[in-house]
Amino acid sequence: MTQRIHNFGAGPAVLPEPVLEQARDNLLALPGVGMSVLEISHRSKPFDEILAAAESNIRALASVTDDYHVLFLQGGATLQFSMVPMNLLPGSASGAADYVITGSWSQQAAAEAGKFGAVRIAGTTEADGFRRIPSEEELTLGADAAYAHLTTNNTIVGTQWRTLPETGDVPLVVDASSDIFSRPIDVARHGLIYAGAQKNLGPAGATLVIVRADLAERGPSSLPKLLRYATHVKGGSRANTPPVYAIYLMWLVTAWLREQGGLAAMAARNERKAAVLYGAIDRSAFYRGVAAPEHRSLMNVTFRLADEGLEARFASAASAAGLAGLKGHRSVGGLRASIYNACPDAAVDALADFMAEFERRNG
Ligand code: PMP
Repeated sequence: MTQRIHNFGAGPAVLPEPVLEQARDNLLALPGVGMSVLEISHRSKPFDEILAAAESNIRALASVTDDYHVLFLQGGATLQFSMVPMNLLPGSASGAADYVITGSWSQQAAAEAGKFGAVRIAGTTEADGFRRIPSEEELTLGADAAYAHLTTNNTIVGTQWRTLPETGDVPLVVDASSDIFSRPIDVARHGLIYAGAQKNLGPAGATLVIVRADLAERGPSSLPKLLRYATHVKGGSRANTPPVYAIYLMWLVTAWLREQGGLAAMAARNERKAAVLYGAIDRSAFYRGVAAPEHRSLMNVTFRLADEGLEARFASAASAAGLAGLKGHRSVGGLRASIYNACPDAAVDALADFMAEFERRNG
């Protein structure tokens, strides 16, 4: 079999090896079905079971109560930038939503919302290059907002909210694309949670939405059918043909998460992995962490070297050593190690060793 290398890509990203093995073993024929999951109808009994099992794993992992719907959609987190305001703004009393801007993904979410209502910037750390998360005192959240939106983990700069701001009766809507299920989540504090699957939940192609039942019904009936949450609630995520294979893998990944001990166990492992890399960065002045230490992401570890030439050499030498995907996002440069749930300890340890060795040779 072809040798696998260490994958630090930001997404699509590394998947748990046991999940890939199971998917491979069952690719030609699902046990008891005799057809590939790539070939079965989305209305078939085997897929009924896959969809129900994926939802039940998600409900178990995050203790999702019955007053929330679990939806499997398409269009990525980017379509949620549009669907959230389309559904939640028009019928609201103020017609306004509060957006906290902590990076380019929140900027894009706010820009979409501006097409459907008033967007109020409730806080931004743009002046600091998004290297930190605003404090609760810096936020101006309105009690009349239709909802308040934030990005829980900023994939590009590498910052993460440690605790969520208090929004009272205003529904909190979060883009959790890059840290969903990396730590325990209190669903009841949210109105709506969305995440593209391709970082922590599975392959690209499916988007998870966990939405409070009353909010799911708010979208006006004049909306295009598939852009209304109520359509997907009514259709049980099968208003049209869903991404069957991506949902199948989400089922396997969420089963794997449960086997690992659930979200608290993942959080402990993610803390450890991140500590190894931040430790490697902080050991000397050769590496410089990008994010403010108190807001460092446990998922996307961003760092810089003295100059861009050295950073380019780091990325190519790492790649030659079997450590892939370390180049920072094209909009900011630098280096980034994405260490999602499925990134094994061994990958992080190998990167820390490589960093020490690279510093010895170039420091
Ligand atoms: N939000 C965040 C936080 C992201 O990291 C990304 C993708 N990197 C997106 C949104 C966009 O996701 P998608 O490509 O699934 O639309």
